[in-house]
Amino acid sequence: MTERWTVRVDKRLCVRTGLCVASAPADFELDESGQGRARAERTAESDVVLEVAESCPIEAISITDADTGHRVFPPET
Ligand code: SF4
Repeated sequence: MTERWTVRVDKRLCVRTGLCVASAPADFELDESGQGRARAERTAESDVVLEVAESCPIEAISITDADTGHRVFPPET
């Protein structure tokens, strides 16, 4: 599968719950300050990654389509 998503954690928002890492340790890790971050900025489309982004309590995780630049999550309003 092609790596079509760009996954980022907004460090201005992340409040270090660790939920993303606990839910998907293959996709997320903690940085040296205890904030979540994607293990790889580019990833294949993934229901798990989308569910983690949806479950982040302050929507610090964003997903964009790497090819088109369209936002996958949070959805554009
Ligand atoms: S779930 Fe959200 S707030 Fe919690 S560590 Fe991950 S990015 Fe930060």
